[in-house]
Amino acid sequence: MSVLVLLEQRGALNPCALEAATAASAIAKSAGLELNAVYIGQSLAGQEGELAGFGLKKVYAYENTRLGHYSNDGYVPIVRELAQELGATVIIGSASAQGKELCASVAGRLGVELVQDAIACRWDKGLHATKPVYAGKVISDVVINDSPAMLSLRPNVTVIERVFGATPEIVRRDMPEVSLRTVIQKAAEATTGTVELTEAKIVISAGRGVGGPENLPVVEALANAMGAAFGASRAVVDAGWIHHSHQVGQTGKVVSPDIYVACGISGAIQHQAGMRTSRIIVAINKDPQANIFKICDYGIVGDLFEICPLLTEAVLQAKG
Ligand SMILES: Cc1cc2nc3c(=O)[nH]c(=O)nc-3n(C[C@H](O)[C@H](O)[C@H](O)COP(=O)(O)OP(=O)(O)OC[C@H]3O[C@@H](n4cnc5c(N)ncnc54)[C@H](O)[C@@H]3O)c2cc1C
Repeated sequence: MSVLVLLEQRGALNPCALEAATAASAIAKSAGLELNAVYIGQSLAGQEGELAGFGLKKVYAYENTRLGHYSNDGYVPIVRELAQELGATVIIGSASAQGKELCASVAGRLGVELVQDAIACRWDKGLHATKPVYAGKVISDVVINDSPAMLSLRPNVTVIERVFGATPEIVRRDMPEVSLRTVIQKAAEATTGTVELTEAKIVISAGRGVGGPENLPVVEALANAMGAAFGASRAVVDAGWIHHSHQVGQTGKVVSPDIYVACGISGAIQHQAGMRTSRIIVAINKDPQANIFKICDYGIVGDLFEICPLLTEAVLQAKG
């Protein structure tokens, strides 16, 4: 009986790995279960210290250059076999693009149910997951009765907390004999720029209110000043003003940053589905009746072509 947390890496440990470890740590503590983790990647060397404080007993590290990049046929057998070996009763991963695929494949191989993209979880005589459904209109509380109970946690919704002192024992394991059908040689930079949208702490998005692709730089300048990822509504994507990889919403990406700024976005329910779990929502819209004002923390009624440059200047000044 134990909890197993899947530590995601992309060269270095991903922040969502430490968020999953935080959530798993709380579950293990409430349930009185042992907590272990699995790391699959090129090398954990130099990062062991980051795994202190979560109450992890052991971290099983499968290190190999061929495991540096995620591959389904490389990672899934490792997690499946380790979960069985440890008799894991709870498995927690991340709801990143990679994590969702890994969790779904492991759940399929183990023949168990999985709750994807939970925004919170807790232990109360079983594993409970909080999950938005119907484009975020309903927040459901799901009890997972299967064993192992599996869930993936949305990135950025959990504050990383280290409450225990001890550093886990690192158990280094050889890569199992598997024939990899695909070996990724190199991962190219995402088209959204340097900050990945789903993991960004700040997201600034543009809507149809920008009026045309030639005006996107007004919002982009604010994003650059704030070190933010650049998002967009579907209207902007459908009009061909920007690539689909920037789309936030039900049929785009789901983001949960600390700050989300919607510029010229009306706040349709399908857009909200991708951003309403953001910690602080700021809306800039010239229509005081716009739906986005019903869910925002700070609303600026005004023309984005006046507001965005003022904010950009203020941010740049504050940064010196
Ligand atoms: C099945 C389905 C899936 C969908 N999936 C998504 C999705 O994933 N993501 C998504 O975003 N949408 C999605 N949509 C579309 C969604 O319903 C809306 O049509 C879309 O979000 C509208 O985009 P918008 O807010 O940019 O445009 P609009 O609704 O046209 O709003 C533009 C806003 O800009 C304001 N504005 C105009 N000029 C200015 C100015 N100068 N300064 C400040 N404000 C200004 C206006 O007041 C208005 O509120 C989906 C729809 C369906 C049916």
